[in-house]
Amino acid sequence: MKVFKFGGASVKDAAGVRNVAEVLKHFSLDDLVIVVSAMGKTTNALEETVWAYADGRDTHANVDQLEKRHREVLQEVAPDDVVAVRALEDHFHALRAMLKQPVTRDVDHYYDQIVSLGEVWSTLIVSAHLAAVGIGSTWVDARAIVRTDARHRAASVDWETSSKQAAGLLERAPKKPVRIVTQGFIGRTADGYTTTLGREGSDFSAAIFAYLLDAESVTIWKDVPGMFNADPNRFPDTRLLEHISYKEAIELSYFGASVIHPRTLQPLQRKHIPLYVRSFIDLKAKGSTISEATDHDTLIPSFIVKPKQLLISITPHDLSFIVEENLSGIFKRFAQRNVRIDLMQNSAVAFTVAVDDTPRSRQLVEELRAEYEVRYNEGCELLTVRHHDEATLARLTEGKEVLIEQRSRTTARYVLK
Ligand code: ASP
Ligand code: MG
Repeated sequence: MKVFKFGGASVKDAAGVRNVAEVLKHFSLDDLVIVVSAMGKTTNALEETVWAYADGRDTHANVDQLEKRHREVLQEVAPDDVVAVRALEDHFHALRAMLKQPVTRDVDHYYDQIVSLGEVWSTLIVSAHLAAVGIGSTWVDARAIVRTDARHRAASVDWETSSKQAAGLLERAPKKPVRIVTQGFIGRTADGYTTTLGREGSDFSAAIFAYLLDAESVTIWKDVPGMFNADPNRFPDTRLLEHISYKEAIELSYFGASVIHPRTLQPLQRKHIPLYVRSFIDLKAKGSTISEATDHDTLIPSFIVKPKQLLISITPHDLSFIVEENLSGIFKRFAQRNVRIDLMQNSAVAFTVAVDDTPRSRQLVEELRAEYEVRYNEGCELLTVRHHDEATLARLTEGKEVLIEQRSRTTARYVLK
């Protein structure tokens, strides 16, 4: 069995949905679990809806727009499927009812109940289209399989329960070859509430399903022909990474390479399941393979830039040393606020970190100010270079102010302004 993952860009419109069916036709003999993200920018629109709801602002226009968009695509790809139209209507009805309820809980709880719908709608549409073109599939609610804790917006998987829930899933599918269509990004708590796995989490979902079902491989279908040594929109002469190890791919995605969600590789590595990144536009292109290390590993310099970073410097008011006690308190606050530290550095009296500049990290800065002197530098970028050489580093940092430089044998990192 193979797991395929189609991201938001691949199902952003009717043509995209039709193309999913085209891709599947090339795999007519394989059992497939097809993990799908929300269409195009749906997740962003749903996030806006949640913020509006939480602030008591009007959500009608936003929801109407989402419904119109999804109905249109469904109408185009499965014009005769009245059952699917009804199902979509019911979902929107339920969403509107939800938005009429008073806000009594933490916003992250509502976020997950609402933002998760993007994946529910997109899978409904994909599965209706597959039926319309004669590719029967089974729509599976990922939440019935993926059990998580209740940490909304960044839930952790309960592997044991999920394993039990996944047992027999393929065997229960009514037809061979198996075609299961399910959602990325979402799971469910023991109390029955929906959770999400973090933005762009559908890749991780594909890996979860692969792990639970002992898949032979995972393929992430993208609008680019594989994983590159740098973002082609930012750097000239980028090169395809044809074969890299799990470890290298984990490092690259951790440092901010946006091709794969950073949590995707761990479950695959544990079961030695290879990951292919391939183009849904050019099916002949070989793409990238991520698997165990081999002699063929591509070890050319890779560059990753994370823009919009906040460089925060934290100092005790009395200039006492930064030691384990206050460090652990500081780390705890980052964890509680769900702010990921991208880079850190310490001196005797200062602890300095680079984080994404978001409302959450700004809020954290304010909180830390109650106890520490906190200064920050905005508009920074974090540059990571794997397998660096001097010439590359000189070229990349030229004309920029280097606020922090850290180097190991394999990795050079800079905070630049
Ligand atoms: N739809 C979610 C997002 O946009 C998950 C994903 O696309 O992987 O973040
Ligand atoms: Mg997406």
